[in-house]
Amino acid sequence: MVDLKSQYEPIKEQINTALAQVLESFAFINGPEVQNFQKELEIYLDVKHVIPCGNGTDALQIAMMGLGLKPGDEVITADFTFAATVEVIALLHLTPVLVDVEPGTFNISPEAVRKAITPKTKAIVPVHLFGHCANMDEILKIAEEFNLFVIEDNAQAIGANYTFKNGTKKKAGTIGHVGATSFFPSKNLGCYGDGGALFTNDDTLAHTLRGIVNHGMYERYHHDVVGVNSRLDSIQAAVLRAKLPRLDAYNKARQQAAKKYMAAFRNCKHLITPTTFTQGTCNKSNGICEACDCHVFHQYTLRVINGKRDGLAKHLSEKGIPFGIYYPIPLHLQKAYLDVRYREEDFPVTNQLAKEVISLPMHTELDEEQIDFITNTILAFFG
Ligand SMILES: *Cc1c(COP(=O)(O)O)cnc(C)c1O
Repeated sequence: MVDLKSQYEPIKEQINTALAQVLESFAFINGPEVQNFQKELEIYLDVKHVIPCGNGTDALQIAMMGLGLKPGDEVITADFTFAATVEVIALLHLTPVLVDVEPGTFNISPEAVRKAITPKTKAIVPVHLFGHCANMDEILKIAEEFNLFVIEDNAQAIGANYTFKNGTKKKAGTIGHVGATSFFPSKNLGCYGDGGALFTNDDTLAHTLRGIVNHGMYERYHHDVVGVNSRLDSIQAAVLRAKLPRLDAYNKARQQAAKKYMAAFRNCKHLITPTTFTQGTCNKSNGICEACDCHVFHQYTLRVINGKRDGLAKHLSEKGIPFGIYYPIPLHLQKAYLDVRYREEDFPVTNQLAKEVISLPMHTELDEEQIDFITNTILAFFG
């Protein structure tokens, strides 16, 4: 599914040198590599504050702690996402409210968000799923109307550019009150272990978050709030500093691979290729919208219709082609997150997607030959 080894080859010297320097420095925690990475990422994202932390799940949790959400507060998020998003809501004794997604983008449905709002709702967590920005125009509008926080789960979309209806652009993760990302090795900007970060333009919130990641300390051994221990280490920061200048090229390579997949599958009546524009912001129904660049293809996820998904999966296994099913079970049906308030008829899209989606190999090093082999194998299955 990913090929981190081939990606490493051209940057091997640089990474090895940087790692050797960290080893010589013995500044493993909070060293200059971490501080420099933080500054470089702030510049890249055009955001005032980046707060590095231990991983993407921590980043989401720390965001909710920093906003002062309290037990019983309702937090709305997508039913179709990785469990980390809903897990931290539940861990903090907030009340997760799962809502359906859109069939084209797989992202949280603004209409469903609106319907789920109650007097207890305090925040919305849009997930930019598979690398594609959620409809932030609508989500911000709803948040403003009901005075809600917006926490972006940007674990899968770092580097994506969101174009608002009025034409202004922002990087995914810097649009809401706070954004959370992951540097897990297979993410679009991945380190060689665990890592994560928070983004915000709010000076007060940034200060709060910096204390929370460090045991609630703002002054050494003065613990003003309950915090956690969540750090990005210098070794991971050194890897990320080598990769950050290449992030745009990496994302471009993913988009090119997606274009080739799309061209190959265009006329297959059993497949629906992923929508590559953010609903309502631009209107290219065919191909990738070059103008808005809102999809950085963390995954290339197809819908296989007519009940043929599991057959295709078996065929790919037999041919030695890796694939993933993200996500096979909607979160509202997971034992840990059952809630009497959920009704099946509220999740038609997620329920359908769980039966239809399949993700194909997607990474920065996919070449023409590999893509041809994958697409030909798939088209041959459908005959
Ligand atoms: C990967 C991921 C996370 C969690 O990131 P970790 O660094 O693995 O903790 C959270 N949300 C989404 C959508 C993810 O894909």
